[in-house]
Amino acid sequence: MKKTISLTIDIEHDCPPYLKTYRGIEKGLPGLCSVLDGFDVKATFFVTGDVASKYPGEIKEIAKRHEIGCHGYSHKRFDRMTLAEAAHEIEKSTGILCRLTGKEKLDSFRAPNLIFPERFLCLLKDNGYSIDSSIAKYKPGWTLRKTGSNINILRVPVSATSSLLRFPFGDQLIRHLSHPVVLFFHPWEFVGMQREPIRWDCKINTGAKALSNIEALIKTFKSNNYRFCTISDFLDL
Ligand SMILES: [Zn+2]
Repeated sequence: MKKTISLTIDIEHDCPPYLKTYRGIEKGLPGLCSVLDGFDVKATFFVTGDVASKYPGEIKEIAKRHEIGCHGYSHKRFDRMTLAEAAHEIEKSTGILCRLTGKEKLDSFRAPNLIFPERFLCLLKDNGYSIDSSIAKYKPGWTLRKTGSNINILRVPVSATSSLLRFPFGDQLIRHLSHPVVLFFHPWEFVGMQREPIRWDCKINTGAKALSNIEALIKTFKSNNYRFCTISDFLDL
């Protein structure tokens, strides 16, 4: 397997659960998309149904160049839902995203907070998904694996927490992540959040610094002959 990296962007309102604004979508997303386009990098955008219904034009535009995956509807935590609530979240957001992208089904799903109980994996299969990227290499119990044959969902773990990109020396650490590398960010990280009432690690180096870090990161991985792939590309790797 060639060295691969996937850039993934979780598209939701700003810094949940602290804020209810959408500055990231309005002010952060355009800059991020031009950086990705400038380097001809295809990424996976996990979008909430909430954002898709409020910003349909933006999501349609992203879908022309990138993979669209589902990030639930409201960005509520799945481990606090009943089966019926989880089914409703997934069906509602999947319906909106399929209509926007003109697709019959989406391949990839990621739950908010990277928490998705195994008992809900059947809901992904029922809604046409093949991949779940709600697990992380820095949390216990991950493996890049298929679940039981009766459900057959490929689980692709993320490599590092999103704030690593914004921390001093984070870029040095990212270079040493084990293969395959899957990173995730949020559009609000590319807007200055220093004055917002959010956790300190959510504020640090947000805005222009985060965007220039992304550029540097892409250059580093390109110069080290990494292949940039989407999450659905994992089905063929
Ligand atoms: Zn999220």
